[in-house]
Amino acid sequence: MDYSAEIGWHDPRIVPYAPLALDPAALVLHYGQAIFEGMKAYRTSDDRILLFRPEKNAQRLNLSAARLSMPSIDEELFLEALRTLISLEKDWVPRERGTSLYIRPFMFATEPYLGVRASESYKLVIVLSPVGAYYAGGMKPVKIHVESRYVRAVRGGTGFAKVSGNYAASLKAQEDAHAKGYEQVLWLDAIENKYIEEVGSMNVFFKINGEVWTPPLHGSILGGITRDSVIHLLRDWGIPVREEKLSMEDLYVAYTRGELEEAFGTGTAAVVSPIGVLGWNDHHMVINHEQIGELTAKLYGTLTGIQYGEIADPYGWIVEVE
Ligand code: PMP
Repeated sequence: MDYSAEIGWHDPRIVPYAPLALDPAALVLHYGQAIFEGMKAYRTSDDRILLFRPEKNAQRLNLSAARLSMPSIDEELFLEALRTLISLEKDWVPRERGTSLYIRPFMFATEPYLGVRASESYKLVIVLSPVGAYYAGGMKPVKIHVESRYVRAVRGGTGFAKVSGNYAASLKAQEDAHAKGYEQVLWLDAIENKYIEEVGSMNVFFKINGEVWTPPLHGSILGGITRDSVIHLLRDWGIPVREEKLSMEDLYVAYTRGELEEAFGTGTAAVVSPIGVLGWNDHHMVINHEQIGELTAKLYGTLTGIQYGEIADPYGWIVEVE
């Protein structure tokens, strides 16, 4: 679908997957006006196709659009486009438990203009790709490097939005972490390099002394849909959740006292991912003997159970594609 300042959004269409034509002066290529979303469609054992809280992706897309001075999209129209596209391409939703159809909506500035300003034209595209089970070989705790040199986001910046540039800014740190034998990066706040923010593409949670801590959404962390769902579940189960600032020093103290019971990341791709090792400066923190925690496993089981229509959804999170 295209947008122009004169006529707004127009010409929604479904076309075969193919390269897009773009003017070499298109604003997105120079000034990074690009945002995206990531979501999945799941096939149930009785062949229904389910989406998980898609309205949240629509809202977040508009939040990201607003931050980059891009036009908003009618959320109902976005959901309608998703439903239409997926129902036409139902066969692309794989059958095996754990697999899904990954859905990638993205919006970018198409106007040819060499100068920094908001674009007068945009394209909104949704591409689909079947994806295999994230934990094909079984759930495995990940090793995470706590990043002390680079930062991902500052308050007032774009960290709270799903803006392509955030990921570009994270690549070097990710590469360095890989070279040191870690799989992902844990970002700290940009001002004091002290408070825990989030992992590369996941929000982060720590179970300390029976309570679950996760950083608050104060402007530089992406409001993950999985994060929100996990908080709902935990509170429902009577487990205290503290959406409070947590410094690496305090986490380390809890760790040395044996109070750090579990750590996990949350996101659409992995759903819930156990963290087995945190490397922070010279400290090598091994969490829960690099085993999958009980709470981590229960959250994973419950969320995927709801997503695959295997257990009741008392929250109204599931949207069936007719
Ligand atoms: N933080 C970042 C930076 C991410 O890219 C993602 C993935 N969208 C998340 C957190 C998790 O968000 P969600 O649960 O909505 O996938």
